[in-house]
Amino acid sequence: MSQDLELHDWKFSVDHEEIAWAVFDREGQSVNTLGRRPIEELQKIINHVEPLARDKSLRGMVITSGKPKGFIVGADITEFESFTSEAQVLEMLKPVLNMLDQIENLKMPVVAAIHGFCLGGGLELALACHYRIATREDSTRLGFPEVKLGIFPGFHGTARSIRQAGPMAAMQNMLTGKMLRAPAARAVGFVDQLVASQDMLHWAARKAILKRKRSKPAGASKQMMTRWPARGLLAKKMREETAKKVREDHYPAPFALIDLFEKHGGNHEALKAAESRAFAPLMVSDTSRNLRRVFRLTELLKAQAPRGLKWKPMRAHIIGAGTMGADIAGVCVASGMEVTLQDINAEQLEKGMKAQKKLFSRKFRSKPAKAAAQARFIADPDGNGIAHADVIIEAIVENLEIKQKLFASLEDKIKPGAVLATNTSSLKLADIAEPLKDPGRLIGLHFFSPVPQMPLVEVVRGATTREEEVEKGAAFVTKIGKFPLITKDVPGFLVNKVLTPYMFAAMERLEKGEDKEKIDEAARVFGMPMGPIELADNVGLDVCLHVSKILGSPSEGSKLEQLVNSGKFGKKSGQGFYTWKDGKTETSKSEFSKSELQQLGAALVQPIIDESQASLDEGVVESADLVDAGMIFGTGFAPFRGGPLHYKASITKSDDTSQHAAE
Ligand code: NAD
Repeated sequence: MSQDLELHDWKFSVDHEEIAWAVFDREGQSVNTLGRRPIEELQKIINHVEPLARDKSLRGMVITSGKPKGFIVGADITEFESFTSEAQVLEMLKPVLNMLDQIENLKMPVVAAIHGFCLGGGLELALACHYRIATREDSTRLGFPEVKLGIFPGFHGTARSIRQAGPMAAMQNMLTGKMLRAPAARAVGFVDQLVASQDMLHWAARKAILKRKRSKPAGASKQMMTRWPARGLLAKKMREETAKKVREDHYPAPFALIDLFEKHGGNHEALKAAESRAFAPLMVSDTSRNLRRVFRLTELLKAQAPRGLKWKPMRAHIIGAGTMGADIAGVCVASGMEVTLQDINAEQLEKGMKAQKKLFSRKFRSKPAKAAAQARFIADPDGNGIAHADVIIEAIVENLEIKQKLFASLEDKIKPGAVLATNTSSLKLADIAEPLKDPGRLIGLHFFSPVPQMPLVEVVRGATTREEEVEKGAAFVTKIGKFPLITKDVPGFLVNKVLTPYMFAAMERLEKGEDKEKIDEAARVFGMPMGPIELADNVGLDVCLHVSKILGSPSEGSKLEQLVNSGKFGKKSGQGFYTWKDGKTETSKSEFSKSELQQLGAALVQPIIDESQASLDEGVVESADLVDAGMIFGTGFAPFRGGPLHYKASITKSDDTSQHAAE
């Protein structure tokens, strides 16, 4: 039958019970994305079954996936780049929306059988089916990640999710982009039935068809919030909550979604009609384009690790259980590795081990999984794990002689092929490796603090480091769920090299009398996650002063030096440039004009742009895209601006355009 319909991305068959099976298995891809061809082929299938459903020669249809690990990860975002106008977007949407309506109106039950990721357009397709069954397995996740790409669901997912889950849960999911595990998805109403595992899906879907099961929309109590004036109040509340997290001029999509709900959320058909009109401008906006770019940059970073490497790290040994070492160990355990953690200070070792409990509770829901993680995590004051480890990471005090001594003592103990790494932030790899018999094996693995939250790890290639070791380092970083960025061994590597001049330039402005709150607000208005002065307090003013001395910046008599000399180290001591209480700064209620802040913000980030360009020219990383990726994932540089060098190119282009217009 598949042959008759000429399908590449779907398999279609009808079984002896007259149940049709549409199995999505995108050709040549490891995951299913809803691109143009799979949608056209699904249309062929629907056109084929429609008359058979009408004359009752089919009992129903199951839509499922042929991939072992996932249902549908969403629309194919690589195809988004071809749209340059709203009209094109509307043109693309029309046939898809008609097809989903056609599925909903089929005169036979249509069941979505879901295992693994069911996201974005995939969830919208599932919501157009009459009944949804999902596996309870941990890998099954449902959600609408569209806001992360600067859009919201555009295949009528807004209307259908509100119909199924009510506006509170549906809007919350669409506004945050969070993924739900299957039991949570069932609780909100996205899923109707759960089965224990993938092998039970087929049977459960067949039974649902034979029993003509149909999902029920959310009940009256949930739908009450779609009526006026409740809808208006809910919209106001959601606007306030969203504004606490993002600014509308940076991220318009969630606000546009709330507007859409406020205006049309009381009428399913009106909401469907208005969704496309609100969706199209977002899709062609610079914000969405740049956020899609960020998504592509994540792929670029992952590609820093070679594919098909035979070496698979299973065991890690971490030396130093302080701020960094303990968290690095925790993250390795959470990724499934067996980890030994060593420290010369028994108290610190115990504290570092204990501190990981929080991470394990967040990462693992079930008791056995949590217990297994604890069992993989071993306190090792004598360093017995060194001989068995595939990766050894040093995270002890930042002192060259102490580090050299440690590495010299390690070399004869480690097994052949094991990766030897330092988490140094300011020492030269070549210096640390000097006493080694084989200095080519040392790499840098520069983690950022707080380790569990920061997605980037710089993999540092020293002047003598062997390529094979760098490759293994990058593979290890992807194995623990982080993004590797291969950098040259220059002071500050990429991220701190670019960030430092920005922080010092901001401190210089402070020195000259600029208001610290104005500086920080201006940076946030530009799109930085926090201002440079607050950042200095976070990093620690003692560390900043140390760095300024290394860089030869004049710090004598500066505010920075005065604060450090009087024991004010920033957030960690409760006092720095700011007074800190419960991890937050105490600020005054000053108001600054928007245009002034915008101007100052652009001036503040100029050192980031200049140093990014200089780093690219010096070959610190391989490409401009990698510079941008490093700054977005290492510092949170305004993602909606696409990275410092992309931003630089875009302002140069708009300057050129306005100049042409003036001529
Ligand atoms: P820390 O002072 O919190 O922890 C260092 C730990 O190492 C202490 O518990 C100490 O007892 C232990 N230690 C010292 N000598 C040892 C030895 N010979 N054997 C075993 N344990 C030993 O320091 P940290 O902030 O975690 O920094 C560790 C390393 O990571 C440094 O090289 C630092 O430059 C680098 N780093 C720090 C950050 C950060 O934000 N803190 C970020 C990136 C890199």
